[in-house]
Amino acid sequence: MDGTGWKRFRLNEKKDEAEGVKSFIFESAETPMYFLPGQHVILRLPDLEGDQRGKMRHFSISTSPLEGKFIGITTTIDPVDSPFKRKLDSLEKGEEVDIFGAIGKFIFDPGLWKESIVVLIAGGIGITPFRSMIKYALSMNGNFRIRLIYSGKTSKNLVFKNELDGLAAGDSRLKIFHTVTGEQDGTGNMHRGRIDQDFIRGSVEELDNAIFYICGPPRMVEEETRMIVSELGVDRNRIRTEQFLGY
Ligand SMILES: Cc1cc2nc3c(=O)[nH]c(=O)nc-3n(C[C@H](O)[C@H](O)[C@H](O)COP(=O)(O)OP(=O)(O)OC[C@H]3O[C@@H](n4cnc5c(N)ncnc54)[C@H](O)[C@@H]3O)c2cc1C
Repeated sequence: MDGTGWKRFRLNEKKDEAEGVKSFIFESAETPMYFLPGQHVILRLPDLEGDQRGKMRHFSISTSPLEGKFIGITTTIDPVDSPFKRKLDSLEKGEEVDIFGAIGKFIFDPGLWKESIVVLIAGGIGITPFRSMIKYALSMNGNFRIRLIYSGKTSKNLVFKNELDGLAAGDSRLKIFHTVTGEQDGTGNMHRGRIDQDFIRGSVEELDNAIFYICGPPRMVEEETRMIVSELGVDRNRIRTEQFLGY
């Protein structure tokens, strides 16, 4: 089924998710949008002027299809923002945007997930499609073994941390391994450093049977992919990637 095309949506809710990160939850003004967990959309702000990169950006859908007629996206709203982000952040409930989608093959794949250990590697805001995939997968029956390996600059930047920790506490199919790469921020015993081969070996019990999904800024995705192939000896065909171009 192909549910793609431009549709008009209204902002339903804005939520703070972590330091400098917000979710924007949109409701279809027309028919709901069909999507698979992990897919992304193109968001267009029709009235935006003066942004060198134009009126459109790609965003992974951070909500799960089970969250009904809503499409949620989650993004950084930094102090230094593009006109696009400033406009997005200024939207009030009920204001309209255009959304195209859903698109992309970086998706939850139930058959593959049931027969493999699924290793989800996220850098920073790259967690967004994984929230959708994880929520959806855990709602299904199936002996999934999901290992989320998530790095952020500080613990305050780890998006959806409490929610995902709560899911893992209630469902042994999900295990989460955090690491922070920035300065000490008083978070005590959290692992420090980048996602390297030792961190992955310590988090994934059966590497031979693992499939990898990697999502985040382009450089991080490229470096992790290279490391997983060259240092862990994983076949490139067992790695799926999504690069957040623009970071
Ligand atoms: C398939 C796909 C999925 C994606 N999914 C997501 C997603 O789920 N969430 C998400 O956030 N992004 C996602 N992206 C990236 C997204 O499309 C944007 O490119 C990204 O959010 C950056 O947005 P922006 O250009 O408005 O810049 P901003 O976010 O405003 O800025 C990006 C960086 O540039 C700096 N900056 C901005 N303006 C200035 C300025 N005038 N002077 C100096 N520095 C400045 C900011 O401080 C920031 O560090 C995705 C991209 C793709 C291709």
